Order: sequence, then structure tokens, then C-alpha cells
Amino acid sequence: MPFLPYYDHIDPGQGGSSMVIPEWPRPVLDRPHVFMCPVCRESFPSYEDRFQHRFEAHPYQRPLLVLGAHEVNTPRFVVTTALSPEQIRPVNAATCRLDGKTVTARMLAQRLAEARSGFFKVELTGAEGKITVSYEISIEIASDSHASLVEQEFARLYSPGVVSVASISAFIRAASDARTARRYVDGLAAYLYGILAKDQRGETTLSQEQGRARLNEAGQTLSEIDRPLAAVVAGIVSFQSNAFSRNERLAPVPRLRSAMRWFDSVRTNARMVAVDRADSPTTPNARVLLDSATDEILAWMDMPPDRLSGHAKQIAKRSQQDDWLPEDRIKAKVLLAAIHESEGDAAQAGKVAREFRHDPVFSRLAERLISSEKESPA
Ligand SMILES: [Zn+2]
Repeated sequence: MPFLPYYDHIDPGQGGSSMVIPEWPRPVLDRPHVFMCPVCRESFPSYEDRFQHRFEAHPYQRPLLVLGAHEVNTPRFVVTTALSPEQIRPVNAATCRLDGKTVTARMLAQRLAEARSGFFKVELTGAEGKITVSYEISIEIASDSHASLVEQEFARLYSPGVVSVASISAFIRAASDARTARRYVDGLAAYLYGILAKDQRGETTLSQEQGRARLNEAGQTLSEIDRPLAAVVAGIVSFQSNAFSRNERLAPVPRLRSAMRWFDSVRTNARMVAVDRADSPTTPNARVLLDSATDEILAWMDMPPDRLSGHAKQIAKRSQQDDWLPEDRIKAKVLLAAIHESEGDAAQAGKVAREFRHDPVFSRLAERLISSEKESPA
């Protein structure tokens, strides 16, 4: 059963109590250093700059609650990551109410930032009282001890060597004491069910398509949780769905991080460079279940170029295999095109590129390869 090793502060060998390994401090979360405008995607160096730009460059009329990176557009919203008061902002609100009481914008921000759990009714009313927008905000921030408990149970899930639907249920039951970490458990369980469905193993009754939905749900839930394991799993889901720009917070998984960055640079520059193999001197101390396609793709990307070329036939076969999801077949095609190009075979690279010409992620690369094929001597 394939696994992705990663670095964490939890020793999976320890049942019961959490153990902090002193020589390996908790990895610094690889936070994005840029803040992107949700409307035009322009990047800014700070939260404040992004915020200013967002509402000056793209005027917005209605009252709106902004929580961290989210403009809350739904009547219900769950907060799972602690926010500072500066990251909680009512916009276009002449009046703010919290649980029926009128409060200042600053008080609203402070009260929501302080809460670790609970349910809050927020009402924002625009100028002249014309429009009121109401929200029900549920705050569910896992306590450190609950989150650690979930991670220990998650690690223990692997000890029999085989993960099945039954062992996932056992994980959910074992983690049920972690009251404040329910969404963390939900996200991890959705991921595991999704992996079994993707590979059609472990007594799954879900189709591959249903599995994909589970994986997306897991990615969304976990990207909001501020723990290395959550970031690693959310990163795997981004990789599976070819969302390569979401490659932050991946310091604990150097293999995945370099693969993500490689595909991201191929996607944006339409140029293929060598994969940057960042090997780490320390031994990973935790692992996450992987689907077999992702495992195989990461293994290819970890190979030196000459060895990778030797796998061209296998990669070509996978790129046509119908039990591989389209996103994985595309990754195999891009790798195959990279191999042909690095061998100077523009004709073969162009031929492979025709197969992903209409892919929204890699169309620029495909066009470039197809035009170099035409320019190259036959
Ligand atoms: Zn913008």
C-alpha cells in the first residue's frame, strides 16, 4: 500500500500520549508570502495591501464580511483556523450586530477572533439602512490536544498495513473524543475514503467519481486547518486535481513540493526544466496513504533524468490507461513529452502534446511543443 512520508512532530510509533521529538522541531508552515486579489489575481506583499486594493480597484456595494482570505458569500460559514482581529473585517457596513447587539467593527473583530468555538449571528447593514446581510458563523478551532489525538489515531490506522473501509470507521470512532477537531476528522476520513475509491480497493463501495468528490471535499476542509498533516493532505489533493499553484505549506513533504513546483513552472512558463530534487537529511516520521497513480507519478519525478527515460514506455502506457483518472493521465503525458523533448525528439514531444492541447492547465505548453515540432527539421 503506497504512502507518502512526511515530517511532523508526532512519532507514529507512540500510542497513547503525544510525543514531541526534540531534534525535529515542528516544521514551519510554508505560508504563502504573497496575498492574491480574489478578483484579478494580482499579488500583494501584505494582507493590508491586498485588502486596500481589493475594494479600491474593484468596487463592491453590498455589506460583506471578510474573514482572512475569505469573502463570506454564504449565509453560513465555518471558521477552522484562528484569525487575528485584523483579519476580520466588515466592509460597507454602517452598522454591525453580533448576536442581536449593535457593536463596533473593532468589537466584532475582537469577539470573533477570541472565540475558539461557538455559534455567532452577525448582521451587517449598509449605509442608510438599505441592505442587511446576515451570517451564521460557526467557529470550530481544534484545540492542540484534540488535534494531536486525531493525528495519533490517524497514524495508528496504518499499523495493520492495510487500510479498508472498516479501519476508517475505527479511526472515526477512536477520534470521536476530539470534540473540537471534528472537522479535522471529517476531512481526513473523506480523504481516506476518496483514496480507496480512486484505487477501487479496501472494500470501497464508492465509484472513482464519488471518490473524486470525497477528495475535493477533503482538500477544502483540510486547507483551512492549521496543522502540518492537514496541509500535507490538502497538498496531495491539489496535486491529484492538477491545481499546482496551491503549493504552499508543503515544507514537510519535499518530494511532493518539488513535483508541484515543477508542474507549476511547466504550466506557467511552458518550459520544462529539471525537477529540483530536494532531499532532506532527516528521516520522515509520519506517513499518509496515497493512491497508486499519485505514488507512481511521484516516484517517476524522484528519478534522475536517465532513469526516468528508461520508464518512458510505462509512462506512455499509463497515459492511456482508463482506470487512471484524466488528471493523472495528463500528468503522465506531460512527463512523457518532457522526456522526448530532453532527448531532442521534437516530433515525438509534439505528438504527445497534441493529446493535451485542450487541457486547461497545460494548453500553453502543448502549443509551444506543437510549434517547435513544426519548426524542427523532419
Ligand atoms: Zn484585483
